[in-house]
Amino acid sequence: MSSDGDIKTTPRGFQCVLCNVNLPNMSSVDQHVKGRKHQTLSSVRTTRKTHEERSVFVSGIKPEVSQSDLTEHFQQFGPIADVIMDKEKGVFAIVQFAETESAHAALTCVEHLMKGLKLRVKPRERKEFKLIPKKRNDAQSLEQMFERLKPELCQLPSVDAQMQYVVERLQLGENEKKARELLVQLLQEIFVEFFPDSEILPFGSSVNTFGIHSCDLDLFLDLENTKTFQARAKSTTEQVGEGVSDDGRSEDSILSDIDLTTASPAEVLDLVATILKRCVPNVHKVHVVGTARLPVVKFQHHKLNLQGDITINNRLGVRNTRFLQLCSGMEERLRPLVYTIRFWARQKKLAGNPSGAGPLLNNYALTLLVIFYLQNCEPPVLPTVEQLKDMACEEEECVIEGWNCTFPSQPIAVLPSKNTQDLSSLLAGFFSFYAKFDFASNVVSLREGRALPVVDFLGKGKEEEENPPKGSRQHPKLGSMTLLDPFELSHNVAGNLNERSHHNFQRECQEAEKYCRSLQYQHKSAKGKSWGLVRLFTPHGEVSLNKAEQLSISIPFKSTSLPEAMRSELHTAGEDFRRLWFQKVLSAVEQVFRAVLQCHLTVSSDAAAGEEAAEGPPASMNSSGNDSFDGVPPQTEQSPQDAVVVGAKRLLSSGSDTSVSPQGKKARLMKRGKPDAPPWICTQKYPVWAGRRKVKREILKGPDSGAEGSCAELESKVTAHIQEKEAQLKEALEFRVQPQVVGGTESTKAVLRLQPSSDKPGAFHDFFHFLEVFVPKMVDTLLEKEAQNQMTCD
Ligand code: ATP
Ligand code: MG
Repeated sequence: MSSDGDIKTTPRGFQCVLCNVNLPNMSSVDQHVKGRKHQTLSSVRTTRKTHEERSVFVSGIKPEVSQSDLTEHFQQFGPIADVIMDKEKGVFAIVQFAETESAHAALTCVEHLMKGLKLRVKPRERKEFKLIPKKRNDAQSLEQMFERLKPELCQLPSVDAQMQYVVERLQLGENEKKARELLVQLLQEIFVEFFPDSEILPFGSSVNTFGIHSCDLDLFLDLENTKTFQARAKSTTEQVGEGVSDDGRSEDSILSDIDLTTASPAEVLDLVATILKRCVPNVHKVHVVGTARLPVVKFQHHKLNLQGDITINNRLGVRNTRFLQLCSGMEERLRPLVYTIRFWARQKKLAGNPSGAGPLLNNYALTLLVIFYLQNCEPPVLPTVEQLKDMACEEEECVIEGWNCTFPSQPIAVLPSKNTQDLSSLLAGFFSFYAKFDFASNVVSLREGRALPVVDFLGKGKEEEENPPKGSRQHPKLGSMTLLDPFELSHNVAGNLNERSHHNFQRECQEAEKYCRSLQYQHKSAKGKSWGLVRLFTPHGEVSLNKAEQLSISIPFKSTSLPEAMRSELHTAGEDFRRLWFQKVLSAVEQVFRAVLQCHLTVSSDAAAGEEAAEGPPASMNSSGNDSFDGVPPQTEQSPQDAVVVGAKRLLSSGSDTSVSPQGKKARLMKRGKPDAPPWICTQKYPVWAGRRKVKREILKGPDSGAEGSCAELESKVTAHIQEKEAQLKEALEFRVQPQVVGGTESTKAVLRLQPSSDKPGAFHDFFHFLEVFVPKMVDTLLEKEAQNQMTCD
C-alpha cells in the first residue's frame, strides 16, 4: 500500500501517522518509509484491510448456534476462511470468506434463513488501523487516579484546598505505614541473625514525609557495628580457640564465610540477596543491581505489593532523608507544594524514571528544586543549609564521609519564616522561577541557597574533573542541569538528565507559568468546568510550539562539552562569559553558512546596528588564521560577523541592567526579544541539504579519502560536490537569520531565528530542518577546532 497518506506535514516537519513518529525532513521520511517498522505495519494493515473486505458481520443468531452451522450456511457463497463467534453473548459473528466476491454475494442475498433464524448480514465495519502504544502499568494507574481526582478537585473552593486534598489522596495511609514498619522490623530481626549488631534503616519516600501509595521502600543495611563485632570475634577466637565467639553465637553462620572489612560490596549484596530469598516470607524477584551509582538488592513483597531496595552504603541517603523530614516539620506549606509538583511532573512525564534509572528527574531531585525555590522566595520560606548548620548545637554535629551534614534535629530550633504567601501563589512562583532559570550557566546550591556561576566550576580541566588527584575534592559532574546535593557537594543530583528532559522541564514550567496567570487557575468555574490544579495536571505530550520558536535554531551553552582551552578562557571572563562565548559561536555559525554550506551571506540592509558595526574590532576566530577551507573564496564584502559581534557586545555589556534575577540576584539579565546582532541574509542556490550522507560515503571511498582532513573540511567538500553535480534550484532560497543570545533569565543559548524571504521551490522547510541539526553540531566541531588551534599557537 502507498505510504503517501501516512505522512502528514507538521509545524516541525513531518509525521508518520501510521507509526506515530515525527520526522524532521524528507530524507528521514524516505528512510522511515523504507524501514522495517513502517513496512511491517503497512503489511499488517494491508492484511487487515483484505480481511475486512472479505468479511461480513452477521447478527440475529442465538447462543446455541455453532461455528459449523454458520460455515454450512455461508459456504453457498464461496469458500470460508474463518468464522469468529462472539463467545460471551452469542449474538453476532464475523464470517470471513477466502475471496472478496463471496462476501459481496452474501451481502447481496436478500434473505438469510438458517435453522429457523432470520440472520441479518451487513458489511464488516472498517476500523482505522492505528498503532496503539503500549502503556506502562504505573502510568495507567496514575491516569486512573487522575480521572478519579478530577471531579473531586473541581468541587473544592480554592487552589490551596486542592493542594491540601492532593496530599490527602496521595500520601501513604496509616495502615500502609504500619505495614512497612512491620516489614522493616521483620527484616531487622532476620538480618541481625546473620549480621550481628547490624541495623536496618528506612530512608527515602517511605519516611521522608513525601511518600505516595505506590512508593518503594528504601532500606540501608548498616553493617558498621557488624564489622566491629566481627573484628572482636576474630581476636577472641584467636585467643580462646576455634568454635564459639564471645557472645556465644555460633560462628557456623553465613557471616563466617565473609570478612566485611575486605569483602567487596557485590559480595555482601549477594549475601543479602540470598538471605532475602531464603529467609523472608512473601519476598520474590530478588536481584542485585550492581551497576547503579549505589549498588542495591531489589526485591518485591507479594502481600504488601511493594518494591524494596536494600543498600549497604547509603548513610548520606539516611541523613538527607532526615533533612527532608526537618524541612517538612519547619514549614507546613512544603508538603502540599511537593506533592502537587511531583504529581504535575509525573503527568507531564518530567519525573519518575521507570526502574530507577533514566534521563528524567527523580523525586529527590524534584524535592530539592522545590526547597531551593523556597530558599529564594522573598522573604525566604526556608533557610539555606548553611544557615541550618549554624542553628544546630554541638551534639547535633554530623559529618558523613567527610561531608558536613549538621542541622538541628528538631524543627523547633528554627525560627518560622516571615513569608506569608499562600500555596497557590507559591506554586505559581515555582513555575515562573524555573521557567526563567538559567540552568546552563548556573549551579543550584541548596547549601548556599543561591545559584553559583557555572564558570566557577570550569577552572579544572576535564581530565582532572574526571580523575581528581588523590585527597582532593572532586568537582560535580556538570550537566544540562547541575543541582548539587545539599551535603555531598561533589554530587550532581540531576546528573542523569539529558538535554531533552531539561528542556522539557523548563518548557512545561513556562506553560504552567502562563496558565497560572489565567482566570481558570485562580477561580473556581461556576459552570463546573475544569479549573485550578485540574487543568495544570492535564497530561499532554509535547508542548506545542509557538510560531517564532518553530523556525529557530538553538545552540545551547553546554558547560560539559566545552573544549578544554575555552573552559579556562570563559572561567577568566567571569560574568562576561556569555558575550565571549556568543562571539565565538557567531563566528562559527558564519563559517558554517559561508564556508561549509557555501551560502551567500550578507548583513541585512535593515540592520539597525549598522552604525555600531563600525565601532570596534571583531573578536573573530579567523584571527587565528587557520580555519579557512580550501576552495572557499575569500570574502570581500563586510563580514556579518564583524557587525554581529559588536552588536552583541553593545547589548551584553550594557551592564547597568542588573535587575534581580532568580539566580542569587547577581546574574545580568539579557534583554528578551531584542536582537543581539544585526540579521544576515542568506542565499543558497543548490539543494545542499539533500543526500549528503551518500555523497560523503562516496568521497570517503574515493581517491581523496585519505586527505579529507577535519569534519568541517569534509562537509564543505560534500557541499561542493552537490553544487557541482546537482541542478540549481529553480529559484534561489533566500532567508533572514537573526542571531541572538539569551541567558540570565533562562538557559544560556544562542538562537538563530530564520525567516524565509523567498521560497518558491518550497525547499525552505527541508533546509531549515537540516540546519536545525547540522548547525549546532558543526558549531561544536568548529569551536573545538578553534580551541585546538589556539592551544597550538600558545
Ligand atoms: P520515590 O521512591 O517515591 O520515587 P524517593 O525520595 O524515595 O522517592 P528514591 O529514588 O527512591 O526517591 O531515592 C531514595 C532516597 O535516596 C532519596 O530520598 C534520597 O535520600 C536518596 N537519593 C535518591 N536519588 C539520589 C541522588 N540522585 N543523589 C543523592 N541521593 C539520592
Ligand atoms: Mg524511594
